[in-house]
Amino acid sequence: MYISEIFKHKKAVYSFEIFPPKPTADLTGITDAIERLSRLSPDYISVTCSAGGSGNSRTAEISKLVKNHGIEPLAHVTCVNSEKKDVARTLQELSLSGIENVLALRGDRVEGMQSPDFSYANELVEFIKTSGYTFDIAAACYPEGHPESADLVSDIRNLKRKVDAGVTHLNTQLFFDNEDFFRFMDMIRLAGIDIPVQAGIMPLVKKNHVDRIISLSGAKIPAKISRMISRFYDKPESLMEAGIAYATDQIVDLISAGAAGIHLYVMNNASVAERITENISGIFKDVNGN
Ligand code: FAD
Repeated sequence: MYISEIFKHKKAVYSFEIFPPKPTADLTGITDAIERLSRLSPDYISVTCSAGGSGNSRTAEISKLVKNHGIEPLAHVTCVNSEKKDVARTLQELSLSGIENVLALRGDRVEGMQSPDFSYANELVEFIKTSGYTFDIAAACYPEGHPESADLVSDIRNLKRKVDAGVTHLNTQLFFDNEDFFRFMDMIRLAGIDIPVQAGIMPLVKKNHVDRIISLSGAKIPAKISRMISRFYDKPESLMEAGIAYATDQIVDLISAGAAGIHLYVMNNASVAERITENISGIFKDVNGN
């Protein structure tokens, strides 16, 4: 099923993001996680990919596993370190696996690997559109601006180019201050971008996430989060409780404000997804009228 169809029928879409295991790892852990996540009945589960040149490693395999559990997969595809022929092979593999939805990404540049064919995600969207496959195409956006862009206005100008190339919905980078999302939504609507935008929420529940996420995403850390981290950094159970409560609070506020959906970065941690889903499922049922 196309994810764009789900947006047509639901006021608030709910999804999870997982990442594939290493090439040599067996599938026990990820299969268990997908089984537990699928019981939470998300609208879809997205599967990340590596941005390395040889591409998208186990994304198709894990996306197929998601599909076999009765949940629609959204397979990530990157391009900046790949040639057209690599991307074409990935699209063929996804199509043969029965995948109907892809998230088209540039990926992060790897030194010495710049693709001769792709510089930005809008070029990947155009390539997929003319590839002969009929994928629904989603893309990424950044409520605080992409780290490489000079300012939010120029980033949104580039986002519009990507959307106009044929994107049907957007997933945001994680953020911790909902005001950034609300301001971003006002700006993109003014810029003429009117497709659904799902808010990306990352529950900060583990010490190693806190360190990695803060350094990698470049997300602004509100004082409330700083206090939470400094108070509970070395107290795993309390950090887990506090992180789940913070993410729940963010989601309730976003859905109250009419966000088109929530995309939960669950980092393959089904327990966290279970706890957050339990907190918010009544709200989603109410908003979606079921
Ligand atoms: P683009 O849309 O190409 O934008 C990148 C930068 O270039 C921005 O600053 C933009 O303003 C600028 N720009 C865009 N188009 C143009 C243009 N035509 N001319 C000039 N400037 C332009 N990475 C992975 O490796 N694997 C994943 O699975 C993955 N999943 C992600 C999922 C989500 C929801 C998000 C938000 C990010 C994900 N990323 C992933 C990270 C992503 O690959 C990086 O953030 C990357 O740096 C940008 O990718 P993009 O598709 O947003 O790029």
